[in-house]
Amino acid sequence: MNRIRSEQLYREALQHIVGGVNSPSRSFKAVGGGAPVFMKRARGAYFWDEDGNRYIDYLAAFGPIITGHAHPHITAAITRVAENGLLYGTPTELEIKMACMLKEAIPSMEKVRFVNSGTESVMTTIRIARAYTGRSKIIKFAGCYHGHSDLVLVAAGSGPSTLGMPDSAGVPFSIAQEVITVPFNDLDGLRKALDTCGENVAAVIVEPIVGNFGMVMPKPGFLEGLCRMAHDNGSLVIYDEIIAAFRFHYGSTQTFADIANHEAIKPDLIAIGKIIGGGLPIGAYGGSKEIMEQVAPLGPAYQAGTMAGNPASIAAGIACLEVLQGEGVYEEMDRLSAKLAEGLQASAYRYDVPLTINRIRGSLSTHFCDHPVTNYDEAQDTDGEAFAAFFRHMLDRNVNLAPSKYEAWFLTTAHTEQDIDDTLEAAEASFREMGKK
Ligand code: PMP
Repeated sequence: MNRIRSEQLYREALQHIVGGVNSPSRSFKAVGGGAPVFMKRARGAYFWDEDGNRYIDYLAAFGPIITGHAHPHITAAITRVAENGLLYGTPTELEIKMACMLKEAIPSMEKVRFVNSGTESVMTTIRIARAYTGRSKIIKFAGCYHGHSDLVLVAAGSGPSTLGMPDSAGVPFSIAQEVITVPFNDLDGLRKALDTCGENVAAVIVEPIVGNFGMVMPKPGFLEGLCRMAHDNGSLVIYDEIIAAFRFHYGSTQTFADIANHEAIKPDLIAIGKIIGGGLPIGAYGGSKEIMEQVAPLGPAYQAGTMAGNPASIAAGIACLEVLQGEGVYEEMDRLSAKLAEGLQASAYRYDVPLTINRIRGSLSTHFCDHPVTNYDEAQDTDGEAFAAFFRHMLDRNVNLAPSKYEAWFLTTAHTEQDIDDTLEAAEASFREMGKK
């Protein structure tokens, strides 16, 4: 397959844009390097690159594009807004409509605030938790990604109660020390961390369903235990559902049928984003009225934004949620992803390629290993070279995956049975090539 134009554009981009990309996760560094594919156009489940090649897309822009690209209902909503002025710097009625839609779907969100990205939304929930509790530390789980603000750019390696080391240059050690990292799905680790410095812990933050070291479900009882321990300790629970909200069903983890005991797993604050913007920049956070009233102009915790609640993002978000309210849309994504996962597993098995697939409704992750993946250590302990080889074989067969072994495959409402069949044909050929080695 010819990708000459992508290669030319990459060389050009390198001269002007740092690393040639505007987010490191778009680079091909984790899959052997070289030029990423420069896409030119997208519609439904497909991308076309600058050389005219068509790909079936499972990246879905790292999550937001759940209705497929250029969905007409969303495009029409954005066009209507654009014709009436893009940004007012005043409140609008649309914001109320969207807030009500979110509150209806996410019971713990008694009050909402819109921001522009997942990073902003998580960053603010942490500030509010600190303001509300008067404490400074947070506990996070290894491998969970919460955006690129200083405090959460800490993974701290493995082992319970490890004091944080910054993951990025420029994050002061003093900030990293405010973060304690515990393995996901490990209540003993959380217990130990709370025993060590519980009185200073403002919040326990978690991706209740993980999307950042593959798709990983919480073990039964994990979220209940986490909420109980945090609350007994006087700490708040923050759910980062930037990926999860509206991904598996119409709502958030606390109403997801695959997870039991909904009353016991309610967070105090929740951060969401991605899907709720329908492809435009957005984030939102919310929680109980009492906690949210910490935020300015009502309370002492400051958060603001020139672009926050901008009419285009809000209109696109409402339109996207309206599509997702359609009859059977989640069931169809689930059905197609089950077929995809079964087919991938069978193909890998035929060619002796070790593969563990984690599937949660319309999303899945492929881990090149022969053990389960339930935490970050297990996700790290997989064959990155095999993933890179698979990624490239698939790309050459017109299937676009995220360029990292830690990222998920996302189905959209636009994928069809034929797309799944075509993907499985590409996978069969890819595994056959890999099995030869
Ligand atoms: N939290 C989670 C769980 C995420 O997956 C991401 C982005 N991948 C973020 C936060 C940050 O969101 P954004 O990139 O919109 O700042």
